[in-house]
Amino acid sequence: MAKFKVLIDPGHGGKDPGAVDNGILEKDIALKVSLGIKARLEATYEDVQVLLSRSTDVFLELKERTNKANGAGADILVSIHCNAGGGKGGFETFRYTSASANSVKLQETLHKAIMSKLGGIDRGQKAQNLHMVRESKMPAVLTENLFVDVAADADRLKQASVINAIIDGHVQGIATYLGLKRTKEDKPVTQERDINVPSKWAETTWKEVTDKGFFDGTRPGATVTREELGTVVSRLLKYVDKKG
Ligand SMILES: [Zn+2]
Repeated sequence: MAKFKVLIDPGHGGKDPGAVDNGILEKDIALKVSLGIKARLEATYEDVQVLLSRSTDVFLELKERTNKANGAGADILVSIHCNAGGGKGGFETFRYTSASANSVKLQETLHKAIMSKLGGIDRGQKAQNLHMVRESKMPAVLTENLFVDVAADADRLKQASVINAIIDGHVQGIATYLGLKRTKEDKPVTQERDINVPSKWAETTWKEVTDKGFFDGTRPGATVTREELGTVVSRLLKYVDKKG
C-alpha cells in the first residue's frame, strides 16, 4: 500500500463546463491536467497513490468531492481549475481563510513550483472561503491555472508544452511537500553473460559432465534443445550400461 494518498480534484465536469471562452472549456483542461498529474506522479515517485474525484467528464457536487477525499483519508487535496474574469490573466492559488499551517505550507510549495514551470503573471497566494479548501480535513489548495477568457492565456492553454508545465509544476510541488522519493530510474544493468564460459557456481559440475563425455564442453551457457538433451540422455544410458 502506498504511504501517501493524494486526492486530485478536476474542477467542474459533465453538465457544468466551468468557464468557457476562446474555444476552451475549463472542465476539459482540469481533467487533462489532473490525469497528467496522476500518471506522472505515480510513475516518477515511490509510495504515492493519486485518487481522482472524477476521471471522466461527469458532474459531481462539491460535497461529493470533499466526501471522497475525507472518506479515503487522503493526505492532501489539490483542486484543479482555470480562471475567468478578464484582466491580464495569470496564475493564482487559494487556501481556506483560516487554513492550517500545513495548508499554508502546501500552497506555498505548490505555488512556487508551478510558477517556476509556467512563468507569466503571478497573481499571488490567496485565501478564500471556498468549499473545496474549507470542507476537506487534510491540507488543501485550489489552483487557478490561467484565464480562459484572456486571449493570451487561452492561447497558452492550447499548447501542449504549457499543459505539461502545469502538470510538472503540480507534480513537483506535491513531491516536495510530501518529501517523496523518486523511483529508481537506473535499473541494475544485467551483465550479458558469455555463453562460452561456465558460471562460477557450475564450474565443478560442468567439468565433471564434460570429463565423462555427456557434454562436449562447448557453449555451457546456451539453452538446450530436445535433440541435444536426447543425445545427453543416450550417452548417460550407455554410461550406466557400461558400469552395470
Ligand atoms: Zn473552476
